[in-house]
Amino acid sequence: MTYIENRRLQELRRYAILDTEPEETFDRITRLTRELLNAPIALITLADENRLWFKSKQGVQLDEASKDGSFCAHALKNGQPFVVEDTTLDDRFKDKEIVRGEYNIRFYAGVPLTTPSGYHLGVLCIMDHKPRKLTCEQLASLYDMGRMVIDEIELRSLAAYDCLTGLQQRQGFWLKARQELERSKRYDSDLSLLLFDVDGFKGINASYGHAAGDRVLQQLADICRCQIRAFDTAARIGGEQFTILLPQTEITDAYKIAERIRTTIANTPTHYCDNDIFITTSFGVASINTSNVYSVTELLRVADKCLYQAKSKGRNRTVSVAA
Ligand code: GH3
Ligand code: MG
Repeated sequence: MTYIENRRLQELRRYAILDTEPEETFDRITRLTRELLNAPIALITLADENRLWFKSKQGVQLDEASKDGSFCAHALKNGQPFVVEDTTLDDRFKDKEIVRGEYNIRFYAGVPLTTPSGYHLGVLCIMDHKPRKLTCEQLASLYDMGRMVIDEIELRSLAAYDCLTGLQQRQGFWLKARQELERSKRYDSDLSLLLFDVDGFKGINASYGHAAGDRVLQQLADICRCQIRAFDTAARIGGEQFTILLPQTEITDAYKIAERIRTTIANTPTHYCDNDIFITTSFGVASINTSNVYSVTELLRVADKCLYQAKSKGRNRTVSVAA
């Protein structure tokens, strides 16, 4: 995989939109696109590593398709609007199943969905069962609809993520935590939560300035991202207070993870204007199975009690309910 493709996939993952439920905001755009351009099929496709996944679909039943050799893959490769006026006259596509098979696709037009940082996440496209031509105005309309899709994706991510650290914000975290708690109860699996806070952070701001403090928080978030698994969730839930949700993790393992993150943070200074800024953190660890908790609020409350103990015992340490 190329470096760019790897970065593109990372960007796509950051938006956390793959395999999510259908949403009216996106369905409205595909419905409008279909009407505006009088096409039987309109799709919002997102390009995963090997598949095209449909965030919204009008006129097809499938949820995904293979990316290899697809119309959308061509649109993505060039990062430009891509039109095939008659698929049966195009050597690249005329023998494909989608053209010859039951879907009988004769026309395709797609515009890439490009993020502000320049990555093409997917395509908004229309298809028809008869050959067609699009006027410049129609292509411009499709392009505008594509912009609406990417604006919507971007807006959701801005609301869900903290702009300083890139971690999830409180509300998004809350939703995620509720889902994970339900899942853990249903499958009787473990779920642990780390809650931690920078020690004496006021002092860091006072000594080095607020901008330096911001940089410290960014580095701390980077460390968290590197230290957790793909299905863990790290969030910034207060100024210098963070939380990490660890599904399928029992309390003793959660404690070890907390200790690993705490020591990594303590041993990794932030370089800022010729200074090496060292910080320490205090951790509280709670788990649903050891604490008999039934809500996210309770889980956080137990972790907060532990965090408070870690602070009062002298900071730069981890306290867990079981310890
Ligand atoms: P403790 O060890 O008890 O946690 O002490 P503390 O100084 O870290 O705790 P306190 O809650 O008194 O201070 C937190 C400080 O964090 C105060 C606030 O100005 C600072 N802070 C909160 N959000 C940000 C931010 O986004 N950037 C910077 N630079 N500072 C922030
Ligand atoms: Mg603090």
